[in-house]
Amino acid sequence: MLLKKNAFLVLIWMLFSVSLWADTPLAKAGVLDLSTWDFETNAPISLQGEWAFYWNQLTAPEANSTITPSFIEVPSFWHQADGLSLSSKGYATYHLKILLPDDLPAMAIQMPYTFSAYKLWINGELIAQNGKVGTSKATSTPYWLPITKTVTLDNEVDITLQISNFHSSHGGIHLPIYMGVSEAIVKQERTNIGVELLVVGSLLMGGLFCMGLFFFGHRDTPILYFAVFCILQSYSELSEELFYIPKYLDLNWQWFIRLERLASFVAIIALMEYAIHLFPKDKSRLITRIIEFTVLGFILYVFIFPGNYFINFIIITISILGIFAPYFFYLLVRAVVKKRKGAIYVLYSLISILLVLGFSLYANLNNVGENPLINFIGISAFVFFNILALSNRFSARLNEAVAIAQESERSKTEFLATMSHEIRTPLNGVIGMTQLLDKTSLSDEQRRFTDIIRVSGENLITIVDDILDFSKITEGKVTLESLPFSPEQLIEETIDLFSEKANQEGLQLLSQANSDVPAELLGDATRIKQILINLVGNAIKFTPKGSVSIEMQLVEHSEDQARLQINVKDTGIGISEEQQERLFKYFAQADASISRKYGGSGLGLAISRNLVNLMNGEIWAESTVGEGTTFSFTILLDHVQHNVPIVRKIPSLADTRVLVLSASPSFITMIEKFGKEQQLTLNIITKPIIPAKKQFDLVILDSYIQDGEHLLEELEEGQNCPIIYFTPLTAMQKKEFSAQVKAIYNPLKFSILRETLKTLDQYTPIVPKVTVKETSSQDSQVSKKLEILVVEDHPINQKLVMMLLKKNGYTADLAENGVQALEALEKKQYDLIFMDIQMPEMDGLTATKEIRKRYNKQQVIIAMTANAMQGDREECLSAGMDDYASKPLKPGIIKEMIQKWMKKEAIVE
Ligand code: ADP
Repeated sequence: MLLKKNAFLVLIWMLFSVSLWADTPLAKAGVLDLSTWDFETNAPISLQGEWAFYWNQLTAPEANSTITPSFIEVPSFWHQADGLSLSSKGYATYHLKILLPDDLPAMAIQMPYTFSAYKLWINGELIAQNGKVGTSKATSTPYWLPITKTVTLDNEVDITLQISNFHSSHGGIHLPIYMGVSEAIVKQERTNIGVELLVVGSLLMGGLFCMGLFFFGHRDTPILYFAVFCILQSYSELSEELFYIPKYLDLNWQWFIRLERLASFVAIIALMEYAIHLFPKDKSRLITRIIEFTVLGFILYVFIFPGNYFINFIIITISILGIFAPYFFYLLVRAVVKKRKGAIYVLYSLISILLVLGFSLYANLNNVGENPLINFIGISAFVFFNILALSNRFSARLNEAVAIAQESERSKTEFLATMSHEIRTPLNGVIGMTQLLDKTSLSDEQRRFTDIIRVSGENLITIVDDILDFSKITEGKVTLESLPFSPEQLIEETIDLFSEKANQEGLQLLSQANSDVPAELLGDATRIKQILINLVGNAIKFTPKGSVSIEMQLVEHSEDQARLQINVKDTGIGISEEQQERLFKYFAQADASISRKYGGSGLGLAISRNLVNLMNGEIWAESTVGEGTTFSFTILLDHVQHNVPIVRKIPSLADTRVLVLSASPSFITMIEKFGKEQQLTLNIITKPIIPAKKQFDLVILDSYIQDGEHLLEELEEGQNCPIIYFTPLTAMQKKEFSAQVKAIYNPLKFSILRETLKTLDQYTPIVPKVTVKETSSQDSQVSKKLEILVVEDHPINQKLVMMLLKKNGYTADLAENGVQALEALEKKQYDLIFMDIQMPEMDGLTATKEIRKRYNKQQVIIAMTANAMQGDREECLSAGMDDYASKPLKPGIIKEMIQKWMKKEAIVE
């Protein structure tokens, strides 16, 4: 196929060449008859044929007619002219008479460069000059520059051309002189320059491209040699054809030419090295060495003998290539036969360049101008085929490298998987046995040791699991399930797993799903949980104090799918920006010292990122050192078929006035969100101070606030509304709370908050609302309804009970022992007696028996005792008491007792 294409190219060149060498009128005996030539329709004409020739004479234009001339073919080198046998060095005058038609349009003449100096006159007027024409080497200075000039022409035109050559081996004028309509000449000139620049451009780009391939690839030497060849050759082409450059750039012309020669020679060496490095197995080092040394010889020659930069360069180059090209051809055919990669392309490229060179040689030997277009097509084809071959080679190398990398990656992950399994088995034995050992009788020290073994073993299992996961993920063996699950439940279950740890470390855990999160979605809950466990685990690990919260929100929503964003926020040590960049890479830990301090494999986040990606999501981190970190990830999940929207809003709560007491920003944010969801009216206080003179329907107290427990007491006394108390205790360690207090145990979850709030209406305030207002007048009004006697000998306890009563809006009388109590009863009728048990003179039990004897059951008597032993209660009740409150008195107990025993009286307003 490609061969056919090449043949096609050759055919195009032939056609071009034929069209260029089409018949044009020739000068005869110094006269060129163009009187019938149509300049308007024809391309510029070459003033070729027999010119009058005056050897070793520099005659002025007006003197021409007096001397008998010989005749010479133009263009041609004079030393090659038939029958003249002249030296290439010397000087001469050329003369041509041209007969032209009438009424010519604006005309121009295009004088090519000669390898020497010249002067050109038309009808006695000096039109163009290059260098300095002289009669000896000393008086003659060469300069190469094509010159185009517009001229005014009559019917008869005399052209006089003086040429002197003492520096080059090329005497005379070897390129055609063109005459034509000014526009056409300019066009021709521009086309030539344009095409030449294209050649230079294609060589340069090819060279730079290969440089790139070399430096960014595998440093494959043939690519470098070809790049060097292209770049040098582009310079050589540029300077050979565009002699304007040194003039415009004000460069030293002779050095410019010399460098051009040098570039050409080095380019040949680069090309040769390219060939032999490309197919090293097929080369003959001897031949290449011979060629290289010959070229080196020429290089030295050019440099050591500065006067000889005008040696017949083309012939030398062509002769070098004459040796090299057949050898290169042979090498390539061998490579093609041996099916070397890309050899066929290089062969095509060689054929292309050989055709160009063939044409160039023909043009030089026959003194016809080279066709720049042919040069361009040939050189571009050469560059193109070689780049094709090199790219082929490059991609083959790349594929090889990728295959090796994949293979090593596979064996690495296989190794990891096997190792993980192998490690896991004995590790299970270690952990299992430690658990059994733990159940035997051990000394404290032994138990501490077994604990360490067990915890270390469990840590190791986590790491092994991570490694297993990592190898599964990198091998692409993880497939995700798609089953219905509740996203809100998922985050709450996850956070529950950490409650014990968080409580040990005094951290608040909070979880919140925005109300727009669907009740159910389809997805792989286990894998999502795995990500969450890793993030929450890290957050707790790196948070010495404060809180860790999970928030979930819906970020995108379509008919079929929902995109959730989950944020895991902590108030921990934070991650520096530099460390953040490495976070999601395998085995990356933010800081080496961290792994020593906190443990971990550095795999968790990388695994999480892979899982998130599998769920079409993204994961990222935002962090400020010392303030905390938020890890966020999104996941795309399908909707279940019949998604029933969950109703998270509790209508009865709207506009509830809520007092929130917390110093934790995360807690407050959560409650604010909750408040918004439920339309609560929040009054947030971040200091442990209860606002006076305000009435609330609900209090939410965060026990992590300073003096949390004490605040609760105060609230119980002072606020006649339900109190939600968020506490680190677990349900197991539950303290007794009064009916007014609903405890929510760390973690704080929205669902629990909602459930708790739903049950609040069961709480009936016992004291009329007015009593809550801290105005003493109203307090005393109500207190009159109940007559209370406190019997207590201990002064501090006396104060406490009196204070608690006062806080609830009651006053009471005080008796210091049983005797005083009986005396008081004689004076006044009491509704309620708080009776201490152990007192001097008469104890509480005796006093109660006496009271019952005297007044029967007129009073309610409640025991207050520090004896918490079994049987105390029975003893008190059998003595005639109605109820029993153990010391230390819980803050709500007074109110509870009154509520229980004195309902009727209290309700009275
Ligand atoms: P590891 O199993 O070691 O925790 P990860 O990939 O989960 O591995 O985490 C990598 C590193 O990222 C951790 O060692 C830690 O340095 C840093 N890092 C992760 N999460 C946090 C966080 N919440 N706060 C501070 N640093 C963190």
